[in-house]
Amino acid sequence: MSPATRCDVIVIGGGSAALEAGIAARQAGAGSVVLLEKAPQHESGGNAQFSHVGFRFVHSGAQELRQFFPALDETIFRRMQIPVYTRQDFIDDLNRVTQSRIDPVLAECLVDNSNAAVTWMRDIGIVWEPEKMTEVDGKLYLPGGHHIHPIGGGPGMLQQLRDIAFNKSGVEIRYESRVRMMHGNERKVDGVRVSTPDGEYDLAARAIIVCSGGFQANTAMRARYLGANADLMKVRGSKHNTGEVLHMLLDLGVRPAGHWQGAHMSPIDLKAPDVETPAMSDGRGNSMNRYDYQFGITVNALGERFFDEGEAKHAYTYAKTGRAVLQQPGGIAYQLYDQTGIDLFRHGRDYPATMVEAPTLAELAVKIGVEPEPLLRTVENFNAACRTDVAFMPGELDGKGTRGIGPRKSNWAMPLTRGPFRAYPITAGITFSFGGVQVDPQARVINTNLQPVEGLFASGDIIGLFFHNYPSCTGQTRNAVFSLLAGRNASALLKRN
Ligand SMILES: Cc1cc2nc3c(=O)[nH]c(=O)nc-3n(C[C@H](O)[C@H](O)[C@H](O)COP(=O)(O)OP(=O)(O)OC[C@H]3O[C@@H](n4cnc5c(N)ncnc54)[C@H](O)[C@@H]3O)c2cc1C
Repeated sequence: MSPATRCDVIVIGGGSAALEAGIAARQAGAGSVVLLEKAPQHESGGNAQFSHVGFRFVHSGAQELRQFFPALDETIFRRMQIPVYTRQDFIDDLNRVTQSRIDPVLAECLVDNSNAAVTWMRDIGIVWEPEKMTEVDGKLYLPGGHHIHPIGGGPGMLQQLRDIAFNKSGVEIRYESRVRMMHGNERKVDGVRVSTPDGEYDLAARAIIVCSGGFQANTAMRARYLGANADLMKVRGSKHNTGEVLHMLLDLGVRPAGHWQGAHMSPIDLKAPDVETPAMSDGRGNSMNRYDYQFGITVNALGERFFDEGEAKHAYTYAKTGRAVLQQPGGIAYQLYDQTGIDLFRHGRDYPATMVEAPTLAELAVKIGVEPEPLLRTVENFNAACRTDVAFMPGELDGKGTRGIGPRKSNWAMPLTRGPFRAYPITAGITFSFGGVQVDPQARVINTNLQPVEGLFASGDIIGLFFHNYPSCTGQTRNAVFSLLAGRNASALLKRN
């Protein structure tokens, strides 16, 4: 039977933003909602398949979060240290990491709707657990700003969302259905051309919600927009995020927004596959992240440091550190640790990593192919610059920085003295691109005349929102906020005339 060629709402994509938008549209009264997913069924789900999907949102602390894990043992819950995350905290984090370039109206929209959107996810049936905790003196500490994630990580969340969308809400999904053309103009859209293995057809709808992700898996677009050698980066997530729908929208006259030369780029194992870094089977996220750089130093192939490894907690620096690595000779670098640093690893314990070990730094330099003399000079200078008058406190910004060297290390500066020493070779891994389309706080897509395009809404990575950097775990919350708005407003449009 050939597929229906008309529906109420088309959602483009099969990732978390698309599933949430489809559910929201049906809940708000849309009769027929069709998700068009380019990927085949076994590859469907976009970036969340490779993630542990932490959520950053405004909340009032332990008692409120208790509602997200009612089955959690009370003795464990009492040991958990859950700080309040206020509206101002979230706004300040967004402004600081984006260097105040984030659209203030959209930032407020994200922050002010964050709690309601995550609560909506809980209400529709998503089951949660606390983020990974660190135990100190019997107390369990959670990372700053993001405290919960769905059970089973990204794959678990997608499974739950699919059940809610397809089995409980009547959303239809069509796999291997690539949108290759948008029907309409900069004033109004009314359908798409769908390309399938069997041919092409047109699907018409009064409303279209675009959730087709960023352009990070498109080497040509990376090279064009993200600068020198950006085409060589590893892609941490889905290979299907190739940006063609984004291009269609720009051609239609949609206004670009966000940082078009910027992207979420983090340090990753040099041996990571070119695309789709494997996720850990227990839902704790991506297996090739190299996020423990704050407990050592990072040098390039010339043996030189090139960024402040202790600027802030990794949640506020990891998404820009990949860019710093990409800009080094050959686009690679080495994270160096002594035994003190290795003992402090938070991320690196969980999975095997590419690593070289040697009893002395000189031998380590030879093993990784870096000239020993400059590397030893770098370590000597670093060791001599580490402050000794400040206590080392790995869980907080301790101010134990360096003095008199550049780049400085602002916190957690401990001399590298206890062998054997290790080097972890890394490169840049791209998570998602920051350049996208302009939306308003109703998730309506805006054209270059600054008017909403009738019938067109967007959510997820295709929205242009971030600049320079990103506070960890904001993407999923943004998805929930804008998908809910898009689904509801698309349905409201159907009722208008
Ligand atoms: C390794 C990793 C870890 C992450 N960890 C976190 C985290 O802990 N917390 C957090 O908040 N964020 C995290 N993120 C970021 C965030 O999860 C994603 O960026 C987010 O899932 C984006 O959702 P999306 O639905 O917009 O895009 P995606 O999930 O990427 O989905 C895009 C969909 O569009 C489809 N598509 C593309 N082109 C077409 C077309 N032409 N026609 C039809 N369909 C098309 C794709 O097949 C895909 O299904 C992580 C990302 C990665 C890769």
